[in-house]
Amino acid sequence: MSNTNGIGWISEEIARLKENGLYNTIRTIESPMDAWVTIDGRKMLNFCANNYLGLTNHPRMRKAAQREIDKYGIGPGAVRSIAGTMSLHVELEKRLAEFKHAEACITFQSGFAANIATIPALVSRGDIIFSDELNHASIIDGCRLSRAKIVRVNHCDVDDLRKKIKETTEYNKRIIITDGVFSMDGDIAPLDKICDVAEEHGIPLMVDDAHGEGVLGKGGRGIVDHFDLHGRVQIEIGTLSKAFGVVGGLVSGDKSIVEWLHQRGRPFLFSSAMTIPDVAACIEAVNILEESNELVDKLWKNGNYFKDSMQEMGFDVGQSTTPIVPVMLGEAPLAQKFSERLFEENLFAMSIVFPTVPRGKARIRVMNSAAHSQDDLDKALEIFKNIGKELGVI
Ligand SMILES: *Cc1c(COP(=O)(O)O)cnc(C)c1O
Repeated sequence: MSNTNGIGWISEEIARLKENGLYNTIRTIESPMDAWVTIDGRKMLNFCANNYLGLTNHPRMRKAAQREIDKYGIGPGAVRSIAGTMSLHVELEKRLAEFKHAEACITFQSGFAANIATIPALVSRGDIIFSDELNHASIIDGCRLSRAKIVRVNHCDVDDLRKKIKETTEYNKRIIITDGVFSMDGDIAPLDKICDVAEEHGIPLMVDDAHGEGVLGKGGRGIVDHFDLHGRVQIEIGTLSKAFGVVGGLVSGDKSIVEWLHQRGRPFLFSSAMTIPDVAACIEAVNILEESNELVDKLWKNGNYFKDSMQEMGFDVGQSTTPIVPVMLGEAPLAQKFSERLFEENLFAMSIVFPTVPRGKARIRVMNSAAHSQDDLDKALEIFKNIGKELGVI
């Protein structure tokens, strides 16, 4: 290597990513996040965001953030366990626990941080984690950090879970961890059945409901509410960064676990608290969700309309049972071409290819939102139809 500072390998790796079509090009959004966004000066119809309920730019949440900034300023100036716990944080946690009918709740800076905090606090070397093979990267990282043994369970396969639990005879503590909604396919973990297995064996159950928070359950109360498993799932991870439209993470469930995370959740102890505008906006989001199911109902109505219409046109929309619609295209170049053509027609929806999904399962992932109007949906469907025909997909 010709370089002398030891980091020449990075440019070589980046060049390789570009050669293999794996380089992340970062799009810059020049407007608020909404049903329509501005990119490169162009107004684009947005089907890319996790903004399920259209709360990212909600007037009441903007106002709540502004109001609390005037009262409390911007930053907490400390980690939660030293001086960073403000009355707003405590209020948000109380409100979230009530909203979700959970015993207790603790918030983190993100859903990612919530997983990194929780898993190593509950298991360590000599312990066993039963983890769905398609679990999110932050669960995988949390599992690795814990140093516990990771047993991969076939995707949503309750019999495989049962079998692997029986096969594993040497352990100290055990835990079962699964995503709630799997974001690439939009399928939902069979949490009721997983919960039965967990109870048969006396193993605690942790579900990461990032894509179900604000989406599943009555009025968006999440996957535990969806399956009516209140009091039976010890740990429910959630995010405030998707349907809630802000940024942050939460753990709700058993109160001893929340209390333990105050003592041992490393991002709680060693990384500063959520900021005031974030917390204030999240409290307002809870207010909005508690007042009415309107946004959640609209999200599902939009998602079902989009999915049904795509199916009628002849698209393969996979196995989704949520407002996430994977438009299955097969090979990566077709998915990338499709996404580029959508972009040219002012529709923003990303292609998702290997290694995020298996080879041969490339797709466009359509993220529906309550923010979309009927006209937005019909416009998008028309664009999909035209490009689908042009590229010989339908
Ligand atoms: C998005 C996501 C996260 C991360 O949430 P952030 O709040 O964005 O950090 C964690 N787990 C799952 C399953 C997710 O989909």
